[in-house]
Amino acid sequence: MSERTGAPNQEMNTGCCVVGGGPAGMMLGFLLARAGVDVTVLEKHRDFLRDFRGDTIHPSTLEVMYELGMLDDFLRLPHQRVEKLTGQVGDERLTVADFTHLPTHCRFIALMPQWDFLDFLSSRAERYAGFHLRMQAEVTDLVQDGEQIFGVRGHGPDGMFEIRSPLVVGADGRHSVVRARAGLAVEDLGAPMDVFWMRLSRHPGDASEILGRFDAGRVFVMLNRGDYWQCALAIPKGSAEAIRSQGLDAFRDMVARLVPFGRDRVEELRSWDDVKLLTVTVDRLSQWYRPGLLCIGDAAHAMSPIGGVGINLAVQDAVAAANILAAPLRQGAVTRDHLRAVQQRREFPTRATQRVQVLVQNRILGRVLASTQRPSLPWPLKLVRACPWLQRIPARLVGVGVRPEHVRTPEVRRQTTDDR
Ligand SMILES: Cc1cc2nc3c(=O)[nH]c(=O)nc-3n(C[C@H](O)[C@H](O)[C@H](O)COP(=O)(O)OP(=O)(O)OC[C@H]3O[C@@H](n4cnc5c(N)ncnc54)[C@H](O)[C@@H]3O)c2cc1C
Repeated sequence: MSERTGAPNQEMNTGCCVVGGGPAGMMLGFLLARAGVDVTVLEKHRDFLRDFRGDTIHPSTLEVMYELGMLDDFLRLPHQRVEKLTGQVGDERLTVADFTHLPTHCRFIALMPQWDFLDFLSSRAERYAGFHLRMQAEVTDLVQDGEQIFGVRGHGPDGMFEIRSPLVVGADGRHSVVRARAGLAVEDLGAPMDVFWMRLSRHPGDASEILGRFDAGRVFVMLNRGDYWQCALAIPKGSAEAIRSQGLDAFRDMVARLVPFGRDRVEELRSWDDVKLLTVTVDRLSQWYRPGLLCIGDAAHAMSPIGGVGINLAVQDAVAAANILAAPLRQGAVTRDHLRAVQQRREFPTRATQRVQVLVQNRILGRVLASTQRPSLPWPLKLVRACPWLQRIPARLVGVGVRPEHVRTPEVRRQTTDDR
């Protein structure tokens, strides 16, 4: 690694500099390049292969793929289809959400490793001459003069770089360096839980849907990933050390009590390295932009894992941002009003979704986690049990969300092999 201080040894210009190659950044990079904008996406890791990213592709994201004419190719990638979300509270099991009635082309959630989704977007984006993806490029600072942002500084495999751009987009997730360096004010909504994340093998004959189990002091969710279950154990915030101090055997026992059918598999958790702690944050920026800078996705609003909607919101932000910004970016005339328009478009869906998440996490999950008693069915679920058609409401909220976005950006000519 070269020297990380001093003058940059590479200076570049780009039409739009996107920091972060997650769902928000890659979708925005793809859409802008497709619309004829010269765009550079900077991703600090060497590849997209990382664990602990949401792996859910929701019906509204699949609808975007349909609008882009990429759905059939996308669904050729290995994935599992989930048509229903099932919950177990104490001994009672019921369907909480049924996606099969949604007004979308795909009436299911596709479970797919996020790196496959991001690799797919990157391979499609590379068909456009204006798309540049730089891996192992970590942004550490902004180039700014007074209020105006002019670009970013960082380091990569070839040393320090400085990239100048009329617009920097912070899509660098919930620990965003961009939003911190821009000094944007963050409103913390709090979260009563953290999550232990682990895998257990999946056997023939196991259920196929997403399973959620609520028991005294514990909430356990299992995502069907083909030959294994991706499991999330929600615990009261800050209690991880106390749980670890009781030892791995006690932890395995707890998991076995929560999922009796997985009792024979808990030995697969061989050490604490197999059980990762993820801290949960729910926050949002009061203002998503400054002159020359915009934040989207988790950088603008970190989402709770409840409902697994974070990727979906990140993608929807990217679609809205591309719809509003592609033409002014092509003309080199992005104004504060354009950036404000992106926030105005996406702020209501963000606030509405976070409101529901905070309600569920504080009123339902927080109480279950704080309790030593077996929980009884909360009244909203009693209602769903009495009127099964109500399963369509959570399905709509989770699967499509509030104010779904549609692709309005045109496609410019793709690069041919002769152009390369
Ligand atoms: C425990 C947990 C479980 C979750 N499960 C789900 C789920 O099942 N489904 C779901 O939809 N959502 C889930 N979420 C939320 C989801 O992960 C996020 O909302 C979503 O990934 C946000 O996408 P993004 O592109 O905005 O940010 P991210 O996915 O965080 O991507 C940001 C990217 O920026 C890169 N980056 C960061 N800093 C820099 C830098 N300085 N320079 C260059 N690159 C940088 C990162 O490497 C990363 O690739 C979960 C969240 C948690 C905490």
